[in-house]
Amino acid sequence: MSTTWSPSSWREKPIAQDVTYENQEDLEKVLGKLRHLPPLVTPTEIDRLRAQLADVAQGKAFLLQGGDCAELFSACSQDPIEHKLSLILLMSLIILHGSRLPVVRIARIAGQYAKPRSKPTEVVDYPVGDGKTEKREVMSFRGDNVNGFEVTDRTADPERLLSAYFHSSATLNYIRALLSSGFADLNTPRAWSFSHVRSPALQSAFEEVIDSLMDSLDFMRVAAGKGDGSGARGGTDTVDFYTSHEGLSLEYEEALTRGVPKHSGAGSSSFARPARPEGSTSRASSKVRNPAPRGEAQAEDGGLEKFYNLSSHFIWIGDRTRQLDGAHVEYFRGIQNPIGIKVGPTMGGDELVKMLDIVNPDNIPGKVTLISRYGADKVGKFLPGHIEAVKKTRHIVVWQCDAMHGNTKSSETDPSLKTRHFVDIISEISTSMKIHQELGTILGGVHLELTGEINEDGFSVTECIGGSMDLMDKDLSLNYLSHCDPRLNYEQSLDVAFLISDYLRA
Ligand code: PEP
Ligand code: MN
Repeated sequence: MSTTWSPSSWREKPIAQDVTYENQEDLEKVLGKLRHLPPLVTPTEIDRLRAQLADVAQGKAFLLQGGDCAELFSACSQDPIEHKLSLILLMSLIILHGSRLPVVRIARIAGQYAKPRSKPTEVVDYPVGDGKTEKREVMSFRGDNVNGFEVTDRTADPERLLSAYFHSSATLNYIRALLSSGFADLNTPRAWSFSHVRSPALQSAFEEVIDSLMDSLDFMRVAAGKGDGSGARGGTDTVDFYTSHEGLSLEYEEALTRGVPKHSGAGSSSFARPARPEGSTSRASSKVRNPAPRGEAQAEDGGLEKFYNLSSHFIWIGDRTRQLDGAHVEYFRGIQNPIGIKVGPTMGGDELVKMLDIVNPDNIPGKVTLISRYGADKVGKFLPGHIEAVKKTRHIVVWQCDAMHGNTKSSETDPSLKTRHFVDIISEISTSMKIHQELGTILGGVHLELTGEINEDGFSVTECIGGSMDLMDKDLSLNYLSHCDPRLNYEQSLDVAFLISDYLRA
């Protein structure tokens, strides 16, 4: 692997899951605009998350990451954002209560639009007028930042990349506004739209958590000499909340990658600037910048600069785009952000170690999260080998269990629907914890597809089977809303949080 890296050096490598745009000029215009737009997050926030993930790697904090499989532009609206935020906050409280560990919260939000697909095209019933349809092969739905879910809207449109930026920015703006207005105040968790949860057992379990946390908060207030209710909150009035997405659309990621002069120090977000002059992004004509050490390049003033992807705090490489000599690994190896790498059954132990050598040669703590996703029936076979392979190296990683992507099945009542069984999800998490314990490593966190979405009648989605609501296969069609993978609903997500909380207490 060459040591020459620039935000565009991925363009020289083979790329998996690429999107072909019919009009390159339109794409270039959009990318030029994206390079000009302000960052969505700052290097300071990114560095803070990396430091917190370094704690997770050592078992001093727990990582909770979750959200939609495919975020939709239509989810950029008050209720869906509040529901997602409140669900992740509730889960984190439940986990914190059991584990007594700080919880690092990362949502798959404000940019989780691009989707890899197993097939580039699909045959659909295409409307041809008068209520008639004919079979046609169209591009698969690749996520709202590429094409539309409607079969008549499947052509890749570069304007959607710009739309992705603005929807991310509106979503993030509302999250920041909620957090700075006390939405995450630990003194008022009952306000986090918990009332629609129908299971009395779940309601009372949650009440217990809240009562006990309230006691602790009262104690802290008294201990701080503010027992008069005068407002001392012991730092509990807001929380850190980070964003993440799969770093799949490299054109977009490159355009939001900004250089920070090295001597300016981390946190000088005002120094972040577009990585390359406008008008130089065409893949064919792209040039690699001056040779420079890993993740650093020669700044225009002659000083070295570091590069941050300022579209999100954390991005990950999917299981389909993690080729060692491919474009995605090339891009990821140069940025300062903490990154995730999906690790499935087809990853070899040697391959995993080579990957770590490439993306984190300096073994920076908190830099890499390995997101294992084997399936409940395969985790026992593959996780031990991967742990042993990493243990033989000097690499320190965060081990995170994605208990969703190896557990996808077809519904028995409607094979066109994908589903996941709650028991498989729980089994993969608990088996992972056990294996880590036996091998002397730490399961630092979980990665879940979940949603707080409810319909007008106050019903949660019905996409996964089981949990305290006892959802059955035949119930799936009642309120199945996902355009991609099935997500845990509000109650099922809280069930998972309680189980994790119990495991960590034990
Ligand atoms: C995902 O996280 O939505 C995903 C596609 O996962 P994976 O790359 O592990 O299949
Ligand atoms: Mn998914």
